[in-house]
Amino acid sequence: MKQNDFVYQSRPGRVVFGAGSLQHLERELLALGATRALVLAAPDQRPTAADIASRLGERCAGIFDRVVMHIPIEVAREAQALARTLSADCVIALGGGSSIGLGKAIALNSGLPILAIPTTYAGSEMTPIFGLTEAGVKRTGTDLKVLPRTVIYDPELTMTLPAEMSVASGMNALAHAAEGLYAQDANPITSLMSEEAIGALARGLRGVTRDANDIGARTDALYGAWLAGTVLGAVGMALHHKLCHTLGGSFNLPHAQTHAVILPHVLAYNAKAAPDAMARVARALGVPHAARGVYDLARENGLPVSLRDIGMREIELDRAAELATTNAYWNPRRIDLDSVRGLLQMAFEGRPPDELTSRQRLT
Ligand code: NAD
Repeated sequence: MKQNDFVYQSRPGRVVFGAGSLQHLERELLALGATRALVLAAPDQRPTAADIASRLGERCAGIFDRVVMHIPIEVAREAQALARTLSADCVIALGGGSSIGLGKAIALNSGLPILAIPTTYAGSEMTPIFGLTEAGVKRTGTDLKVLPRTVIYDPELTMTLPAEMSVASGMNALAHAAEGLYAQDANPITSLMSEEAIGALARGLRGVTRDANDIGARTDALYGAWLAGTVLGAVGMALHHKLCHTLGGSFNLPHAQTHAVILPHVLAYNAKAAPDAMARVARALGVPHAARGVYDLARENGLPVSLRDIGMREIELDRAAELATTNAYWNPRRIDLDSVRGLLQMAFEGRPPDELTSRQRLT
């Protein structure tokens, strides 16, 4: 395809954004034609789920508050059985990617519409991608049935997300936007969204670190997360996401923190192969170099910057490199085992990436 040719496919979905927008919940439920909603939440978000239930009165069929990470199939079956028993005609997924992921698992089999209320910056609410774990193996797929019909983004609900988790989650969002800029199927609309997302996330995360109760910063971060999630749902992801899925899935590293550690090193790896994308990341961050700018953003806002510090063992780096380069996703720079192993070493040690004098061989 020539550089100026592109395909842009918008996704159906309604977004209600703004501090206090949870007040529109009943209106939005009715607009979906739903009258009996099952609310999904993790145990620690039970109080907010109960608040939602009391706002809805009879329109709330019940609460399932046993959301866990990675959507074990047994939990998905249990929640789906409850939805059936209660004759629910909609699921309200309150929380982060795990809660929204459970909503997707229910929607996949039942076709029930999802109304999502995200409280982290992971972005799952804007994608038709689902994941389910069966016998320890996570399977992912894409189906438009799982794309939430309505998303209520209320920054007030993110105020309780601790600052460090907020920054890590925001770096997860930033990774969607950054990889979206050099995606094979990137287009002018998603690239605009990516650049805007990175700027808003950087502003928001710096603000949240200064004051976790700053609603303006929370609003910036959630706005950036929405845009980044939209990019994730619209174009293909590359080496960064493959590495993070490998490290999370096979080495049990924490999802958002892994994104934060890996992203600067993947940007350094791809710097020469995707100079326009790097220029846009750097411009959005207001820094001279993309990879170093992302590394500094994470470090200056209190995140661990090495795989060592988030539970990786050096002895496992060889296997991680092998897994990440098997069935690799498309990437702007050719992926080879030695270079990816070098990238992982840099990330393990937490050294600052330097896209200009990178030790990694450009192949
Ligand atoms: P999460 O949903 O697992 O939440 C982490 C913890 O934070 C939970 O205990 C949760 O209850 C708590 N929490 C959430 N919001 C809070 C708030 N506002 N205040 C206090 N505590 C809060 O974490 P996540 O990072 O949002 O999601 C990660 C999962 O989502 C991974 O399994 C990942 O694979 C998946 N994901 C999927 C997609 C997709 O498109 N399918 C996209 C991104 C992430």
